[in-house]
Amino acid sequence: MAHYEKFESALIHGGVYGDKFTGAVNVPIYQTSTFEQEGLGQHKGWEYARTGNPTRHAVETLIAELEQGKAGFAFSSGMASITAVLSLFQSGDRIIISKNVYGGTFRVLDKIFRNFGISYAFEDTTDLNSLKERLTEDVKAILIESPANPLLTVTDIAGIATIAKEKGILTIVDNTFMTPYLQRPLELGADIVVHSATKYLGGHSDLIAGLVVVNTEELAEHLGFIQNATGGILAPFDSFLLVRGIKTLGVRMDRHVENALNVAKYLRNHEGVKKVYYPGFADAQGYEINQKQAKNGGAMISFELKEKYNINKFFSSLRLIALAESLGGVESLVCHPSTMTHASIPEEKRQEIGISDALIRLSIGIEGIEDLLFDLEQAIAESEG
Ligand code: PLP
Repeated sequence: MAHYEKFESALIHGGVYGDKFTGAVNVPIYQTSTFEQEGLGQHKGWEYARTGNPTRHAVETLIAELEQGKAGFAFSSGMASITAVLSLFQSGDRIIISKNVYGGTFRVLDKIFRNFGISYAFEDTTDLNSLKERLTEDVKAILIESPANPLLTVTDIAGIATIAKEKGILTIVDNTFMTPYLQRPLELGADIVVHSATKYLGGHSDLIAGLVVVNTEELAEHLGFIQNATGGILAPFDSFLLVRGIKTLGVRMDRHVENALNVAKYLRNHEGVKKVYYPGFADAQGYEINQKQAKNGGAMISFELKEKYNINKFFSSLRLIALAESLGGVESLVCHPSTMTHASIPEEKRQEIGISDALIRLSIGIEGIEDLLFDLEQAIAESEG
């Protein structure tokens, strides 16, 4: 067994390291659907690859170790992992979700789970006192993102977990924006962590994946059952890519965050910029809470240009930063939440939440900072009307 104490070492040596049969330092891609048995009930721990595959197992044990949970589960997308978690509930149950969660999380609750009798409510999870009042008997879980998508609103994870525990309900945290390198919700009292591993964990915009980590044997057993029964598993090759991506998470995140802080400061000082949302600013909403529960403010920034700027022109003038859905890759991406990531939320709800048509979301990559600032500078100048 390798000995290590630092998180950076766990990223590389954690979970199942390499291959015990050959000594390969990287986990092999076990591209097989089934495993031969020597006799009835006599197998080597693997039977059928929907139930378990050694490459998938490697990423599942790795994420469980990194998030400090009892067990990890890998799915074919972030949405498949959220769907599996929501399948823990039953008709009559109600889920509270924080106001600006990812549009897809809202959509699956609104358009699919509601048909099966599971209701949901958007609440301001930053206000713990008012949230407490709204925890009716039927509420069985609180699902939050912190910082949330796309306004980077910070919710007190430990505070939510405390009130959820008092009520005997679950706290679920979508930790996609922070990753376990910057924030570990289970250590703060949450019960379940979900990830769109498509983002920072994969890190190279070359796969779609989802991960879940739970903090009890009971949840592990239930979620394992759901994973096997519903079958939205991560394929062996994608599991390999994800293990490979996670190895460099620490160095990538350090650079992502360093660049993001520089870009956020640049935008804040730009006379054409109306507002910048970045949890790393000392005067940002929830700054102290974020400092307490996370290593820093992460690498996502949202901002609005002043009215005289043409937002379409801004997007089309960017030369380095790509206009694309997604985030968390080594390359910087920009998106327009109201018509892209959050288009599935009805307009009046978007306005109520504060996702204006002028809002621009940046996922800051690890390019040279001078090139990023140059690209923003010229695109803002081009878009001035
Ligand atoms: N959660 C968050 C915070 C996201 O940003 C996304 C996707 O953008 C998802 C979940 C869904 O993940 P996926 O696209 O991997 O299904």
